[in-house]
Amino acid sequence: MTEVALLDSVVTFLSKPLGSFIDGAAVVDGQAGAIDIINPATEQVIARVQQASASQVDAAVAAASRAFQGSWAQTSPYLRGVLLNKLADAIEAHGEELAQLEALNSGKAINVARGLEVAQSVIFLRYFAGWTTKINGESITPSLPSMAGEHYTAFTRREPVGVVAGIVPWNFPLLIAVWKLGSALATGCTIVLKPSEFSPLSLLRLVELAKEVGLPNGAINVVTGAGQVGQQLTEHAAVRKVSFTGSVPTGIAVGAAAMKSKLTRVTLELGGKNPAALLADVNIDEIIPGLLMTAFTHQGQICASPERIYVHRSRIDELSEKLGAALASLKIGSPLDESVQFGPLANKAHYDKIVGYFARMGEGNQVVTGGKTVGGKGYFVQPTLLRTTTPDDLFLTEETFGPIVCLMPFDTDEELLELLNDTPYGLGASLWTNDLSKALRMIPRIESGTVWVNMHTFLDPAVPFGGSKSSGIGREFGSAFIEAFTELKSVMIRY
Ligand code: NDP
Repeated sequence: MTEVALLDSVVTFLSKPLGSFIDGAAVVDGQAGAIDIINPATEQVIARVQQASASQVDAAVAAASRAFQGSWAQTSPYLRGVLLNKLADAIEAHGEELAQLEALNSGKAINVARGLEVAQSVIFLRYFAGWTTKINGESITPSLPSMAGEHYTAFTRREPVGVVAGIVPWNFPLLIAVWKLGSALATGCTIVLKPSEFSPLSLLRLVELAKEVGLPNGAINVVTGAGQVGQQLTEHAAVRKVSFTGSVPTGIAVGAAAMKSKLTRVTLELGGKNPAALLADVNIDEIIPGLLMTAFTHQGQICASPERIYVHRSRIDELSEKLGAALASLKIGSPLDESVQFGPLANKAHYDKIVGYFARMGEGNQVVTGGKTVGGKGYFVQPTLLRTTTPDDLFLTEETFGPIVCLMPFDTDEELLELLNDTPYGLGASLWTNDLSKALRMIPRIESGTVWVNMHTFLDPAVPFGGSKSSGIGREFGSAFIEAFTELKSVMIRY
């Protein structure tokens, strides 16, 4: 096993006192206690992060409010774009450093940390930078007839909502934070981000870079700590919008608290139980690499990853055999080893959850491969493939958010559509077929925020993304984010 050598900058960063980042400065003291940050591959403590106290959360919101009314409001749309592009350049320049922090903190294979988390953060940020100069209202001709010769004209303005609370899960802490801060800053909002207590490191480095490239103090703040910190932000009177990504139960609690607080605007990007459907004509050999990548990258800890795969009965044995063999040959090991394809689960709580699911296997389903822990230090488990013939099998209904995929056969298109939609969730779904005409006829009948064809979990900054049904409220990316981060003001003039 050859691990990449840690950069000096990574070692230095891990050894210094860490905590929240408020009004352009690190805040590493306080009464709220510190959290040990664990490397999931070794179970060793790699850093300690001071949790934000209630008064520090207040200070972060106050700093964001000042920047919203002051420095960021006075920064022209052009200059906002320049600064976001500079931040993207800084992420690119410090890409290896950020990727190493991600591999150490969340167990992401270094190639995934480099090629997905860091590279996509740059791409998304540059996309948001391009929007800063293109956010406009419209001019309207009022419809009412004139009473006494007077005239009317009207226009709308897109105005930033204000201070945004961005609550980030542990799986892609850098990329998801970039989605939120990019949306907020591009529209003229300012933001207070709350990373997961498990994986705050790459974001804490990012905000240092933001300061270095010249983003004004208070435009981006980070408060560290557990769920309580997120709750305080959600209920904060000066927060005008909550942008939350995480699980369905927490999302519902966050949405309810935001509504109850002051009808605070909320977008919820939540979990799913995403299906992939393989129609009878698929070339199994051709699609195996794509399926492997989409379902097992970052150990399946991706919100839109497929966890249930419906396969035409005529092809299920071939798929099961070939996908099972491909999974069994994946190299499991240290995320810092460039040849490793499959690292540990991101934290102990999640590892325990997946081990709990392993214990429930075999009740009505067949284990094709995997289903065990790897042993030794670290939160390693095997990539796992199951088969079932029962539509309400646990592994076809509950989100595991891990490397467990369950196959189920179908016979007819109507039966397939029923299976695809038989879930409270609706984040992403995919059809794998060369029969484009059939795919186009099925797409309108699939209850899902996104439907991919011959691909899955491809997120593009230009394409709106979000959940239908219990998978969320609102859309990110494309032009859709603008509605979520701005208020539409109507202006009407009589002359
Ligand atoms: P959680 O819902 O447990 O946590 C998400 C964030 O919310 C964390 O920062 C967490 O803090 C914080 N939090 C916890 N309790 C509260 C509260 N009462 N008020 C405010 N914030 C709170 O999700 P996970 O971190 O476990 O992430 C996994 C889930 O996220 C999966 O269900 C996955 O599908 C979903 N997800 C959805 C995505 C999408 O785009 N739709 C993308 C990625 C993940 P802490 O961790 O410190 O407790």
